[in-house]
Amino acid sequence: MQQLVFATANRHKLEEVQAMLPGDLQIRNLLDIGFTGEIPETEATLEGNALQKVRYIHERYGMPCFADDTGLETEALDGAPGVYSARYAGAEGSQEERAKANMIRLLHELSGKTNRNARFRTVIAYIDADNTEHLFEGAVNGSIMEHAAGNEGFGYDPIFMPDGYNITYAQMPLCEKNLISHRAIAFRKFAEAIRE
Ligand code: IMP
Repeated sequence: MQQLVFATANRHKLEEVQAMLPGDLQIRNLLDIGFTGEIPETEATLEGNALQKVRYIHERYGMPCFADDTGLETEALDGAPGVYSARYAGAEGSQEERAKANMIRLLHELSGKTNRNARFRTVIAYIDADNTEHLFEGAVNGSIMEHAAGNEGFGYDPIFMPDGYNITYAQMPLCEKNLISHRAIAFRKFAEAIRE
């Protein structure tokens, strides 16, 4: 069975991604391979961060591996929060507290702005068994609401309405979001490439 390392310590993410990839692939996360440290994420772009993470693990373990990085980019704020999405309002508090603070900051930065255009973008970096690097991207355009709506999902979901819908990501059942999301698009491209 082909084995791939996913450079994440997040079990929830591993399960979500495993469901999007071919069933005959065994995906192992960082804890499975005995890595408990912190991978640096210091680059200024999603592509840079995804590559930095995957190279860091590949250099140490030599196995085919992939990493992803996601950001919410707004037109009115020149792409912010972008690569800083996770810590836009600081690094303190639980995941839920940070998500709430991030949304409050973004709504504040956008207050009074008529351009609410935004997009979620996921980049996957993959180093294959021949040590070749690949990048895959998935993006969903949408807009930032004036107020949060919905309880599903995580992060900025309550304030992001994808184009073609009149509900936010957080108002969709998770299974629907996971079919149409930026991450789903990126992982479908990745799955097609590794199937070939
Ligand atoms: P990561 O690269 O997947 O860890 O994502 C970075 C940050 O982007 C997360 O901490 C969230 O704030 C935000 N984010 C990523 N994916 C989503 C999503 O699907 N919905 C809402 N927020 C997200």
